[in-house]
Amino acid sequence: MRLSRYFLPVLKEDPAEAEIVSHRLMLRAGMIQQLAAGIYNWLPLGFRVLKRVEQIVREEMDRAGAIEILMPTIQPADIWKESGRYEAYGKEMLRIRDRHEREMLYGPTNEENVTDIFRRHVKSYRQLPLNLYHIQWKFRDEIRPRFGVMRGREFLMKDAYSFDYDFAGAKRSYEAMFVAYLKTFRRMDLTAIPMQAESGPIGGNMSHEFQILASTGESEVFYDRAFEELDLSGEEIDIERLTGLYAATDDKHDPARCPVPPERLKKARGIEVGHIFYFGTKYSAPMGATVMGPDGREVPVEMGSYGIGVSRLVGALIEAFHDERGIVWPESVAPFRVALISLRPDDAACAALAEGLYEKLEAAGIATLYDETEERAGAKFATMDLIGLPWQVIVGPRGAKAGLVELKSRASGERWELTPEALLQRLAA
Ligand code: ATP
Ligand code: MG
Repeated sequence: MRLSRYFLPVLKEDPAEAEIVSHRLMLRAGMIQQLAAGIYNWLPLGFRVLKRVEQIVREEMDRAGAIEILMPTIQPADIWKESGRYEAYGKEMLRIRDRHEREMLYGPTNEENVTDIFRRHVKSYRQLPLNLYHIQWKFRDEIRPRFGVMRGREFLMKDAYSFDYDFAGAKRSYEAMFVAYLKTFRRMDLTAIPMQAESGPIGGNMSHEFQILASTGESEVFYDRAFEELDLSGEEIDIERLTGLYAATDDKHDPARCPVPPERLKKARGIEVGHIFYFGTKYSAPMGATVMGPDGREVPVEMGSYGIGVSRLVGALIEAFHDERGIVWPESVAPFRVALISLRPDDAACAALAEGLYEKLEAAGIATLYDETEERAGAKFATMDLIGLPWQVIVGPRGAKAGLVELKSRASGERWELTPEALLQRLAA
C-alpha cells in the first residue's frame, strides 16, 4: 500500500480524552475515531488489526471443532421473555421498537438466539456434541464506556455455545474451549491467565475469565506466583495443572479462604479478554431445547458459552506492546509487516530502488506500507514508529548508490545493511 494513496489520519497531539495508553495510541495512529460515546469508526489501519485478531480467533475455534455461523445483531424480545432475561437484563440492553410496535433489541449476547436454533433442528443425543460460534457486534449500554475500544458500547465479540447430552460431555466441551483460548491468546503473543470467576447458578469451578496482566486493567486479580514459571508454549496444555493453580478475580477472591500462602500470592491488575462458562440447562430448560437420550427419555441439553472480546483485544495488545514512541506490533497481528521508507523520492537512484523493492515485497506477499511521500525524514520515522509495524526498511540516497538498504527492527532497534535480495530472503524466512 502506498502511503500517498492510503487513509491514515495520524494525530500530532495527544488527544485529551484518552486516559490510557492504548486509547491514546489508537487515536493518534489513526486506527479509530469516536462517533458517539463508546461507539467507534474503525479506520483502515485499525480495521486491519481487528481482522487479524478476528482471524486468529476464528482459526483456533475451527481447530477446536466449533462451527461458525452468523446470528443477527437485532433480536426479537420474545425469545428473551422465554428465558426470563428480558426483564432481568436491565438498562444495559438497548431496547428498540420496530414500525409495528414489536419489541426488539440490539443483542448484548446470543444464548437465547442460539438455543432457538438448536431446538428447531437438533433432536437426538446422536447429533451431539455441537458447538456453534459467531463473531458479531454486540451492544451493551454500559454506564461508563471508557478506555476507547476496551469498554465500548458497541463491540465485536466472538461467542461460542456448546451443547452436550450430559455433564461429562459438557465438561469436555468446556475444557476444549479452555485449551483453545490459551492457544488463541498465545498466537497473539499474549499471556492470558485463566482465573476462577463468579460462575452461574450451577456453581462448580466451571467459569474462568482469561486475564492479561496490565497496570491499566479494570479488574483486580490474585494469582499464584507459580503461573509466572509456567511454560504454556507447548502443544499439550496440562489442564489439571492449570486449573489446579490458584488465580481469581477480586469478586471471587476470598483472603480468608485463599489456599496460596501470602509470599506466593501475587496481586495485579488485569484486562479480561475472554470469559467461558458452563451453565447447564439455564436456557435449554425454560426454552424447551431437549434431546432424546439413548434410553428414549427427553432431557434438556447441557450448555456452556464462551466469549472473547475481539475489539477489546486490539486495545489490550497495545497495552502489552508499546514504548515511548508508539505501538510495537507483534508480527502475529501487525496491520502491515513492513514499513518501506523512501527517504528521498526526489533522488532518482533512491526512488528506483524503493519502487523496485516495493514491487518485490508485494509480489512476495509481504504486506508493506510504502512511504513514498515528500515528507521530511524525521516526520516519516515518527509516523512509522507510532504505527509500530514490525520491520522498517529504509532506502536513502547514499545506500542506494551502493545498492544497499537498511532493515530495522521496531521492537529491538537493531539495524542491518543489506542488499535488496538479502533483505527479501530474510523477510521471507
Ligand atoms: P466485563 O466484566 O469486562 O464487563 P463481561 O463479563 O460483561 O465483561 P462477557 O459477557 O463475559 O463480558 O463477554 C465476553 C467478553 O466480551 C469479555 O470477556 C470481554 O473481553 C468482552 N467485552 C465485554 N464487555 C465489553 C465491552 N463493553 N467492550 C468491549 N469488550 C467487552
Ligand atoms: Mg466477565
